[in-house]
This record gives sequence, structure tokens and C-alpha cells, in this order.
Amino acid sequence: MSDSRLAGIGMTSARTRDRLVQRLREQGIANLSVLDRVRNVPRHIFVDEALSSRAYEDTALPIGFGQTISQPYIVARMTEALLEGGPLARVLEIGTGCGYQSAVLAPLVGRVYSIERIEALHKRARARLKELQIRNVRLRHGDGAQGWKSQAPFDGILVAAAPLTIPETLVGQLAAGGRLIMPVGPEGEQQLVRLTRREQGIERRVLGPVSFVPLLGGVG
Ligand code: SAH
Repeated sequence: MSDSRLAGIGMTSARTRDRLVQRLREQGIANLSVLDRVRNVPRHIFVDEALSSRAYEDTALPIGFGQTISQPYIVARMTEALLEGGPLARVLEIGTGCGYQSAVLAPLVGRVYSIERIEALHKRARARLKELQIRNVRLRHGDGAQGWKSQAPFDGILVAAAPLTIPETLVGQLAAGGRLIMPVGPEGEQQLVRLTRREQGIERRVLGPVSFVPLLGGVG
């Protein structure tokens, strides 16, 4: 893919991206490295070409297989919440989807381990991240609800699909001081939560209402 396609023109240009960043700032995203990633990651290459003119709207868009690329505000909010509390060496991401969230996160942490249950999306994400020359993301096709046992524990876990209750397996793969950011609950009633593993036990904070696709079992 050519440099000009990555840089974008017209509706995918730097000016359009700046407007998105401004909007996220107004909505309370304050972490400058996160805002910088939103400005620099070409979101338009993660969606179908027919949708690329809408890539810098603050909205989720379809990526096929009944799945969506997350809304930029949500990606920024989750990344910011994950980074709060110090640097992260190892992060587990569940629900790679098209790979946009991984691309935003990768340079801000040591290494990302990301799992997707739909094989075609997993493969597409691999191609996109390669194109962007992002090399610290390990991708796996599988059921993320099981976590990634051989690579645990993680300093951070970020989940992009909502289970009805928090999977204990994932909490078990959190390192001391590690934090888990995830949506939880049934459709229409989901909350974004942040769990932190403290010496005294698990601390839980509710960050606000959100709307995600459900976390499904098995592989697609
Ligand atoms: N992170 C993506 C958002 C993807 S939407 C972004 O940057 O836009 C959520 C993804 O979670 C979907 O691709 C869906 O297939 C995947 N998913 C749902 N349940 C899963 C599971 N148990 N394990 C792994 N991936 C899962």
C-alpha cells in the first residue's frame, strides 16, 4: 500500500483526523500519547474502502461477520484507562477485530498479545499491522475468554466484547498491580469496568455505560 494511501486525502486527511482528536478532547480524553495515536493511526485502512470517507467520524462501523470497528472515543477511553497507573510491559487484548485498537495501543506498551475468534478477521488484522510496520503485537486465532495461559500474567487486559459476567479465568491472568478494562452485562445494560489487582484483593471501578458486541465462546 502506498504512503499516500496511508496518509489519506480529502475525508481521510490530516485535517479530518485533527477534528476527530479535537472532539475526543472535548469529551474528556486527556492523555496526549493516546490522542496522538488517534491522530496518527490511519483508521481508514481498517474499514472497507466504501466506508473510508466515514473513518474519522466518532462512530463504530461494520467490518463484516456481524462485527464492528470500535468507536474512536471508546478505543481512546479504554486505552487511557488501561495506561492510568503506570507503564505496561505486557498487555492481553481480547477481540482483535480489524486490529485498530491493537495499532493504537502497541507503541504505548511493551508488547500486545491479541486474540480473535473469527479467523478471517484475525488474518486481516495481521496484514494491516504488518503494513503499518507494527511489530510488537502477537496475534492468535482462538477463544479469548480462556485468556492466553502460556503468556500470563499480564500487566493489562483489555476486552473489546462484553460477557454477561466477568470471566474469572481472565482475572486470574492479571499480574500484581495489573488492570483489566472490559465491558460487562447484557445488551442495553453494559457498563465499562476497571478491575485492579491489589495486595488486599481486586478493586473494582465502574467507568460508565457502553455498548459492545457480546463476548462469544469458541471460535468462528
Ligand atoms: N478491537 C476491535 C473491536 C472488535 S469488535 C477494534 O479495534 O475495532 C469485538 C471483536 O471481539 C469481534 O471481532 C469479535 O469476533 C471478537 N470476539 C467476540 N468474542 C470473542 C472471544 N471469545 N474471543 C476472541 N474474540 C472474540
